[in-house]
Amino acid sequence: MTEDSEGLRETLVDMRRELDMLRIETTHAKLLLSALEAMLGANGDDDPFNGVFTALMQVFEYAHAIVLVEPGDGGEQLECIASSHQMAIGSLWPAGKLFRKALSGRIISTVPGVGADAWPAELAPEISCGQPALYFPLAVRGSRGLMILLRRLDQAGFDRSHVALARKFSLLASHAFAARQASLSKAESRRLKDLTEELEASQEALRFRANHDQLTGLPNRAYVRELVDQMIGRKQWSGAGCEADPGSGANQLALAFIDLDEFKRVNDMHGHVAGDVLLQEIARRVQAEIRRGDVFGRISGDEFVIVLDPAGEQSGVARIVERILERIRQPLSVEGAQIKPSASIGIAFYPEHGRDYETLRRHADLAMYQAKTSTKGRVSFFTRDLGREVDDRLVLEQRVKEAVAAGEFRCALQQKINIRTGCVVGFEALARWVDAAGVVYSPGHFLPTASRLGLLDEISALVMEDLLQNLPALDAGFGPAIRYSINVSPAQTTSVPFMQKLLRRLSESGRAGRFILELTEESFAATGPFQTHVLPALRNAGVAISIDDFGTGYSSLAKLAELTVDELKLDRSLVSSIHRRPRNQIVLRAVESLGAALNMSIVAEGIETDEENRYLLEQTCIAIGQGFLHHRPQLLADLLGR
Ligand code: C2E
Ligand code: CA
Ligand code: CA
Repeated sequence: MTEDSEGLRETLVDMRRELDMLRIETTHAKLLLSALEAMLGANGDDDPFNGVFTALMQVFEYAHAIVLVEPGDGGEQLECIASSHQMAIGSLWPAGKLFRKALSGRIISTVPGVGADAWPAELAPEISCGQPALYFPLAVRGSRGLMILLRRLDQAGFDRSHVALARKFSLLASHAFAARQASLSKAESRRLKDLTEELEASQEALRFRANHDQLTGLPNRAYVRELVDQMIGRKQWSGAGCEADPGSGANQLALAFIDLDEFKRVNDMHGHVAGDVLLQEIARRVQAEIRRGDVFGRISGDEFVIVLDPAGEQSGVARIVERILERIRQPLSVEGAQIKPSASIGIAFYPEHGRDYETLRRHADLAMYQAKTSTKGRVSFFTRDLGREVDDRLVLEQRVKEAVAAGEFRCALQQKINIRTGCVVGFEALARWVDAAGVVYSPGHFLPTASRLGLLDEISALVMEDLLQNLPALDAGFGPAIRYSINVSPAQTTSVPFMQKLLRRLSESGRAGRFILELTEESFAATGPFQTHVLPALRNAGVAISIDDFGTGYSSLAKLAELTVDELKLDRSLVSSIHRRPRNQIVLRAVESLGAALNMSIVAEGIETDEENRYLLEQTCIAIGQGFLHHRPQLLADLLGR
């Protein structure tokens, strides 16, 4: 876990560094280019060095720039032919050791206080040899020169990255030099042109890298957004004032959001190389199905976006998308493994579902989610209702999260009674959410959301605590023989940590034998640690097991015979109107005799009417019942009269 996150962090840091580099390189290429263009475009009156100085300033942040050249007459002194400091122009500089090194092609940086050679005294204090300096050569056919960039004494010196950059810029400055000498030979102008082209090409390459996904070569998230917003901009511009008829389907844009199904599993099971190959293959397949003018990009790990322009009729879009899905579904073998890819697609239209990329993408994403979670198919179109549903869902998700954080869950109890004697024999604990305003919500309102958010275990723990803390008071009121039933969902039974914690908590209460866990048939269906370890441990501790909602699951009566459980709770659907349903009566009789043979107690759930109750009393031997007729679930506080 920590290794993973460490690895992830490193990758992120690397990516960040690479991006920064890219950004810097692009900026430098741009600066070089604009300086070159300024030089090429300069008319005879402009000093080409002005453009160079401006370009250099942004990269090197110097205080002064000085250009010195060797005299043509073989004299000893260098002449300053250009400078950002007007006073320096025309000054003469004795050519000492350092200057000569630079003239012969070296790039040198000096730290503050380290003077070199003799500098013209009349330029001090603005220009003096103790300032941090960067020297680099200028070379143009026959004459040599050097450029000095100076920083102020209170500025930091130039570092290694500046030295590296100076190499690039030295070439540029050399050309400025040549232009300045007004001796631009043909060969030189060719070189200048080549350099311009080279830089333009590298800038193009950099732009491509910044805009495309490295793995698939498709436009990346930022670039897709840019392209689509441009498309929309053009439509709005050309259609200004004359809104496209939304019903016509013409001149609309369709944004399809594609999400691969179970991509994480491919990565986990077959490795990242297989995942990469799959993504590349999917990119190729989709590409083959779309038109040239359509935008197709990869916006994150396993998410792609296609923008169809023009989109045409919805039915036409559906056909295209179905074809894409069909193609995606072709099996492929990667690294020796057979993979059957599949994807879900959500679609939103411009302008009905959004007038900018972000809105369209979000709505297509919601439709995709709908496609993924429904059984109807793998393609879904955004609708306004879907938008509202999702808004509601998001609001509820947020509220449930906050409710869990605030511990707003309580335990309600419903009596299990002996319908023959009227005695209370137990209680079933049922979760309730009591919000800050005192509104009480049943599980139907929050359980699906809570399980999707992975919060069910926390809710169970809160309900359990409420019950355990009130157990002494309950015992005082209802006696120590009463047993308490607790619901455990199938996902919870397969979670060993959850079950261990539950068992520990029950054992700590010192009353483990007073509890019954209500599990559904589904929990028994899978073989795994639940069957081999958890169940025996529960039994050891004296906890009883009940099968909840019996009659709604798939298990046959034969399967039931294999299970060693203590109680069978007949689902309400079996009990409801039992007096009028001969088929259900037969099932009930069979279950009853089986229960008796296997020594399981049978509980009839959801008894709502006198008729149902009477049937159970008169036509069966069932003793225990639960339902609104006898008792409605009550919050603990109400039950205990607090
Ligand atoms: P369940 O385990 O089948 O619980 C019985 C449900 O039937 C309860 O609904 C109860 O209020 C309701 N009920 C009882 N008698 C009648 C009746 O005569 N007529 C009708 N129509 N309904 C009756 P509730 O409290 O809304 O709970 C719904 C489900 O939520 C439960 O079904 C259970 O599966 C789940 N649940 C509740 N609390 C918890 C919990 O703490 N943990 C887990 N994992 N699931 C819980
Ligand atoms: Ca139950
Ligand atoms: Ca039930």
